[in-house]
Amino acid sequence: MNRPAEKPECRIEALAVSRGIGIGPIAILAERRRRLSRVEISAADVETELVRLHQAAESAARKLARISQLGVTNGEKPGAGIFDVQLLMLAPNSLPEKVGAYIKNEHVNAEWALKRVAEDYLEKQGSSGDQRFREKSLDIEDAVERLMAEMVNSAFKVPAEYRGAVIAARELRPSMIVELARAKPAALITERGGWTSHTSILARELGLPMASGIKNIARMFASGDLVIVDGFRGEVVLNPADSTVEYFSGISRETPANRASAVHGGSPVETLDGVAITIQANVDLPETYRFARTLGARGIGLWRSESLVRDLSWIPSEDEQTAAYLAMAQAAGSDGVRIRTFDIGRQHFEGEILNEANPSLGLRSIRLSLTDTDGFRRQLRAILRASVDARVDIVLPMVSGVSDIERSREILDTARKDLKEAGIPFGEPRLGAMIEVPSAVLTARQIAQRADFLCLGTNDLVQYLLAADRDNDSVADWYQTLHPGVIRAIGEVLAAANSASIPAAVCGEMAGSPFYVPVLIGLGARELSMNVTSITQVRRLIGGINAGDAARLVESVRSSETVEETESLLRKYYLENWGALFPPGLLEVKHR
Ligand code: PEP
Ligand code: MG
Repeated sequence: MNRPAEKPECRIEALAVSRGIGIGPIAILAERRRRLSRVEISAADVETELVRLHQAAESAARKLARISQLGVTNGEKPGAGIFDVQLLMLAPNSLPEKVGAYIKNEHVNAEWALKRVAEDYLEKQGSSGDQRFREKSLDIEDAVERLMAEMVNSAFKVPAEYRGAVIAARELRPSMIVELARAKPAALITERGGWTSHTSILARELGLPMASGIKNIARMFASGDLVIVDGFRGEVVLNPADSTVEYFSGISRETPANRASAVHGGSPVETLDGVAITIQANVDLPETYRFARTLGARGIGLWRSESLVRDLSWIPSEDEQTAAYLAMAQAAGSDGVRIRTFDIGRQHFEGEILNEANPSLGLRSIRLSLTDTDGFRRQLRAILRASVDARVDIVLPMVSGVSDIERSREILDTARKDLKEAGIPFGEPRLGAMIEVPSAVLTARQIAQRADFLCLGTNDLVQYLLAADRDNDSVADWYQTLHPGVIRAIGEVLAAANSASIPAAVCGEMAGSPFYVPVLIGLGARELSMNVTSITQVRRLIGGINAGDAARLVESVRSSETVEETESLLRKYYLENWGALFPPGLLEVKHR
């Protein structure tokens, strides 16, 4: 890993989104390009290409059938039959059969075969002067486009050379990061993505150091360049000197993740003055919870059920969902799991027809569920079925007021009725609301009368309170977790839950950051649900602080008028009183 003599060391400022140090050669992740050129394949590869083609056609047809069920505008279903021509084209004995024959005869890649067959089709349609035929061309183009998009997605394979490399990309989608993690890269760097982006959350869960907000990745780095990613302070060192490599190698051996194994998670978590704090885990996989439990987690505070959609690339059936929910319920056992209903937006349903100008403010989360009531009812039935003899609760994402809860309760009642009539046993999950929209904060007392518990989704709460996109690093300075408005909002929600005598958990990333934890405890939070990689350091911190002191500290920051003022007051107090409880270097970096 020697630095070529002619290249000077260069330090690039970045946003630290997943703690840890990664050292390795750069591997630039090219944007997925369509393999539209002709690639000769061997006779042995024909079968692989045919399987890929048929799987892509099946997936495209499934998505299209789903789109035709879903509302396209204002929840209106599109006119019957609009997608019929395309669905017929995607049927196994239509377009896929012709493309398959081309692959077999010509021994070429599926994309090329599709391109040639489509051109042939379109030429025939185009030569006809009939208006109806010309319209059909649009359907053919659309079906071909869908099939092509599916094949491009399925073509993504993680190259072996990513092992030990620093993967650099403009942007990484959550599904890609799970794939990439299998190759065991040293670290990740991206242009886009904030601390609370789902990609960053997953990087932390997977223990991959990551930094974002680096401009012009493709021009800044060349594949093979040696870099160091400092996911603690937010810095990337390009062409590091040998002494720099030595320095960072020392730090990486001392990361908190390496020390985690030394911590025993059995004992209850409480502050020095005896206030019990329940630590829960935000996990995607049952095995992650089993590990989280050994570190001290008691319960899955948030399970993002849309991870099923991501993995299967489509919404699973009721039975498939039931099996997945049961697996989580079994992993959680008597600690319990909170299953959040799908927190997805229309952009998950690929195709330009469903694009929205502002997806974060669009038809997503509970709004999409309440629009697609059949799908919502199916999901609720699956959760009810999985909750027989198990501690399973339901959380509704992005609730904006009491009517979202009331309408959801009605659908939950119909789901119960369906199961009763079918003689299928079901349990009695409690129904909670995520508080992450400003209107829900302002009506938290009314919501608390209708919900069995509240979950504070601080990732979105900060985004929506400050109108700063959590995925956009250009506005990272405006995404202020310690903004006086955010602190007030969290205090108000915790107080609302307290008055209604219902539990409230904080389950955004704020709950897993030692810098913010004393503030949350001071505001009255007693349940914190966090990423598994945060548990050890948060436990250590909680065991060393006094809840009474934290409450007084919060009182003193209540009069702060800016985030800078709050941050410096907290840092000063921490350094003077609790300095040794924080992971090394954490108090040196900016926390907004
Ligand atoms: C949140 O918004 O804080 C949250 C926990 O959910 P997500 O990050 O999935 O939006
Ligand atoms: Mg959220």
